[in-house]
Amino acid sequence: MNQSIVNPMALSGTEPAADDAPAGPQRPVVAIIGGGVSGAATAFHLALANQTPAPEIIVFEPRESLGKGLAYDTAEPAHRINVPAARMSLLTEEPDHFLRWIAAHSATRGDDDALRPDGALFPRRSVFGGYVNAMLQPLVASGAVRHRRCAVVHVLREGPRWSVIGDDGGQTKADIVVIATSHPPPVAPGQLQAVLKDHPRFVPDPTKAGALAGIRPSDRVLVVGNGLTSADVIAALALKGHKGPITAISRRGLRSRGHAPVAQDPAGDFLTDPAFTARALLKNIRSAIRQAALDGLTWHSVIDQVRAQGQALWQVLPVVERQRIVRHLRPFWDVHRFRVAPQVETALDAAIAEGRLEILAGSIAASRIETDAIHCALRLRRCPGTIEKTYDAVVITTGPGHGGILASQPFLAELSHSGYLELDPTGLGLSCTRKSEAIGPVAGVTSSLLIAGPLARGTFGELMGLPQVTDHALFVAAGIADCLLAQTPKAA
Ligand SMILES: Cc1cc2nc3c(=O)[nH]c(=O)nc-3n(C[C@H](O)[C@H](O)[C@H](O)COP(=O)(O)OP(=O)(O)OC[C@H]3O[C@@H](n4cnc5c(N)ncnc54)[C@H](O)[C@@H]3O)c2cc1C
Repeated sequence: MNQSIVNPMALSGTEPAADDAPAGPQRPVVAIIGGGVSGAATAFHLALANQTPAPEIIVFEPRESLGKGLAYDTAEPAHRINVPAARMSLLTEEPDHFLRWIAAHSATRGDDDALRPDGALFPRRSVFGGYVNAMLQPLVASGAVRHRRCAVVHVLREGPRWSVIGDDGGQTKADIVVIATSHPPPVAPGQLQAVLKDHPRFVPDPTKAGALAGIRPSDRVLVVGNGLTSADVIAALALKGHKGPITAISRRGLRSRGHAPVAQDPAGDFLTDPAFTARALLKNIRSAIRQAALDGLTWHSVIDQVRAQGQALWQVLPVVERQRIVRHLRPFWDVHRFRVAPQVETALDAAIAEGRLEILAGSIAASRIETDAIHCALRLRRCPGTIEKTYDAVVITTGPGHGGILASQPFLAELSHSGYLELDPTGLGLSCTRKSEAIGPVAGVTSSLLIAGPLARGTFGELMGLPQVTDHALFVAAGIADCLLAQTPKAA
């Protein structure tokens, strides 16, 4: 595909109303559900495939702007990209594209903290969202991509086509549907949810705009979860002047690690003699880390290599071994692979050093509200009994509720009931083929129903962050282009 058609340095223009765009009767229709990075990047690469006839590409996304999604549609200044800008690009063949866009648009002006002493750039997440959106704008302005600003509530099979129905009642007939809605929000532990649901400072989903606004500077805060979202919450509270004590609790008490002190190339080789079991893979990783240390490198270089080779090494693992990895190794993988931005790490370290932040391994055995105070009985890992703690606010950051994917949206539940979708055997997403085609218990493989982005990671393995998300979007777009080409009647 030609990736250089859109000149990123010449971007301007506003988005016309979606219904202004022409809709030729002969054009195949591709409906993309979800306009975060996965959906927007799929639309972008498909539009650049330059097909004849050009498909009508419609992205259904309730947010105001395409390309931002949950991760980058945030105005919170403490929210930063968690991998250096040099590794986040919409163009897989130009890894420094985002960096160049930032320079051309002075996009980090006024943010003195974005540039780290080692030269790595960690801008605010909104900057990346702005970049992806800017890449989409010329395509939206030309009508090559349409933004339907609504949430999809039904996807129904009608003969060879699909009927996609939005929450505004609009109905769109599509030849191909791409599900790019990513993971559902976190699910609060049942007892906490039941007891705290009406408490003014219970925050079940901190990714919502203004979610932390009700937390007062001296409030005692319990953060449930210790991953990247937990780190975001603690850094955001610090930035708004919160000085109260914070407890962050997770089952193992593992905290997301920071980046390497100096940039390193990926080290190790996991593909020449690949592991066929979870145990062998772990052994290979440990041995590579020992070798890296001898070579003066840190574990970061090895984990980066596992990540880079992750999709290929996932393919050789039987399903039962993938399940073992998810069951036993995922918490350890997550804290090494998802690293906090240096600015966020500094905020966490400062809170620990000042004695304001404690990180605990354990769970919440019970909770109750008295007047406004939230009393929690915490069961600490490897300790008998429970300890009592009192909080003024509770924030849930336990990560996406993977198990509830199919029930999380009416259209997913319907497609599951009609046999077009099922959970992947690893429980990480939706079942799909190596071509990202949905697999369902009744319909089998449906080549016109595709899964883009993190929901496909049960099949593809490492597929959460950039650059894998953009690589996958390019792959899905290429598959759609091939499929449409095969359906185009040949000239006699
Ligand atoms: C808080 C956070 C921070 C992250 N930071 C980074 C980072 O710095 N670097 C990195 O590489 N990765 C990061 N990631 C990983 C992230 O998964 C990917 O970078 C990428 O953003 C995933 O995009 P997505 O489009 O698949 O998902 P999302 O961003 O979740 O987008 C899904 C979109 O689907 C829409 N949608 C949902 N349901 C419907 C419906 N029924 N109809 C229509 N639209 C619907 C939603 O509104 C949403 O905009 C982060 C993830 C999170 C959650």
